[in-house]
Amino acid sequence: MTDDRLELLHLDDSERVLCVVAHPDDMEYGASAAVAEWTDSGIPVTYLLLTSGEAGIDTMTPAETGPARADEQHSACSQVGVEDLRILGFSDGVLEHSLELRRAVATVIRDVRPTTVLTLGWDVEMPWGLNQADHRVAGMVALDAARDAGNRWVFPDITSDDGRVLDRWQASQFLVFGSPAPTHAVAVSGESVDRSIASLEQHKVYLAALDDHAAPRYLISGVTSDAGAQAGVDRAVPFRRYEL
Ligand SMILES: [Zn+2]
Repeated sequence: MTDDRLELLHLDDSERVLCVVAHPDDMEYGASAAVAEWTDSGIPVTYLLLTSGEAGIDTMTPAETGPARADEQHSACSQVGVEDLRILGFSDGVLEHSLELRRAVATVIRDVRPTTVLTLGWDVEMPWGLNQADHRVAGMVALDAARDAGNRWVFPDITSDDGRVLDRWQASQFLVFGSPAPTHAVAVSGESVDRSIASLEQHKVYLAALDDHAAPRYLISGVTSDAGAQAGVDRAVPFRRYEL
């Protein structure tokens, strides 16, 4: 049992967090409980979605689905105190690990200047099954772009919207939610868990289109109770933590 012990991870209000994921709803399977905890204590959190998830609903066209899912993500963000949502608009379902995508993510990192970059696990095989193609790309691009953003000689001409060259920025911490081998856990309150459940429930159109989706409360309570037990607290969100 001691091998499974997770070390508690506390972020103070000097931190700024950038979450990089492929789709609307990716943050909502437990990670958003930690986000609620952070925004509550004054830590700014930005969500960066690489796509608007327009290929996610079989019975709706991408032209209908993309805006609907972006709206649902805005609602989800408001449940957990995220005021800065950015969607890059790369094509859903066919994300490629490209220099174009790394550059786009590095641009946001140099603009937002996060101390912590958070993403989801990119292994082929995840604890719940085989990982999706965009998820595999998004995690690796988040890692690569975090390093790119810190190197002044990589993408040296990245500019802001108003034409200013953006200085290099090195985040210090990299957190992976959904890792098969978590190392740390963020303790969360029951209220943060409730807000996380509410954030997943905002994806109404998307969840209604899935044949067989477990109840948000069941899913998120399960994740946070299990991690809490491993960390010696009531509830927690598990992460694998790396220093950058
Ligand atoms: Zn996804």
